[in-house]
Amino acid sequence: MSYLTEAQKKELAATAKAIVAPGKGILAADESTGTIGKRFSTIGVENVEENRRLYRQLLFTSDKEEMPKYISGVILFHETFFQKADNGTPFVKVLQERGIVPGIKVDKGVVKLLGTDDETTTQGLDGLAERCKEYYEGGARFAKWRCVLKIGGGRPTELAVNENANVLARYASICQMNGLCPIVEPEILTDGDHDLQACIEASERTLAAVYKALSDHHVFLEGTLLKPNMVLPGVDCTKKFTPEDVALATITTFQRHLPVAVPGVTFLSGGQSEIVATTHLNAINKYEAVKPWGLTFSYGRALQASVLQAWRGKPENVKAAQEVFIHRARCNGLAALGKYEGEESAGAAAKSLFVKDHQY
Ligand code: 13P
Repeated sequence: MSYLTEAQKKELAATAKAIVAPGKGILAADESTGTIGKRFSTIGVENVEENRRLYRQLLFTSDKEEMPKYISGVILFHETFFQKADNGTPFVKVLQERGIVPGIKVDKGVVKLLGTDDETTTQGLDGLAERCKEYYEGGARFAKWRCVLKIGGGRPTELAVNENANVLARYASICQMNGLCPIVEPEILTDGDHDLQACIEASERTLAAVYKALSDHHVFLEGTLLKPNMVLPGVDCTKKFTPEDVALATITTFQRHLPVAVPGVTFLSGGQSEIVATTHLNAINKYEAVKPWGLTFSYGRALQASVLQAWRGKPENVKAAQEVFIHRARCNGLAALGKYEGEESAGAAAKSLFVKDHQY
């Protein structure tokens, strides 16, 4: 029988623990070429490799002292993983020099499940072990794989829940065999007019299936992290819920289905505005309950929307955009400690970042 060695387990657990260190979280900068193109189109920037490099350079070379106070890990896309800063230093090294753990998106996107109402599974298992080896040698220490589930009209179906749970478990075991700490991401989209209860039920079924599959596949939970949606009502739900309602629903769901062995949760922002995503994370951390996990952020849109607006592709805006990024990282770092005290709801930070049927 082949199991992980003690040394492998120790390394995976140390990576997971470093990522959810108190007051720190992840910058998800792993937008695929198509997705970053959509973001660039809102600020009039052409989606070419050099612009993608310049934008990621802006993020990764922001204040050397400040950035690592709030950012413990960065998820990269394949292209970015091999890019370099202007001075020739590989991005991976730029991050390592700041004490930030480089991570890599290893899934290859979603495909439809036959006979379902637009439900999907995620592909990318073929050749995954070899790719994980290559990324590990290149300096990556964690990986991300995103699965997507939907609510409404009988969804998520048992087929979608079980298929996605199983593929996440296969991915996680392959990562662990190759030294990468897997971030397990079963994202339930907020598309729809369902209320909070519907999201509680879908999240409970999903997490129950995911942790059964991880157990069946002998995944070493101490060397994993969960990247879930917060438990939220649908974007078109007319009933309003407070951040405290969201915290109660989210933590109760975890208490029922998230093993204590998992060191932490790194939430996705899922289309919430920057300020709402920060406020919800803060409420979750302030909520008094048994919650033995680190509870932090792994935000894409909610860490970058106002940065993109400040940058607009202009070299003279780089410094100001970096300051905006550090501001958002600091706010989320505080929220991960339950110490965020709010801010002026001005400009891009207050704008909804919802994208229908979001692809990554
Ligand atoms: P958002 O925070 O933009 O939802 O994305 C995070 C992510 O990495 C999704 O896979």
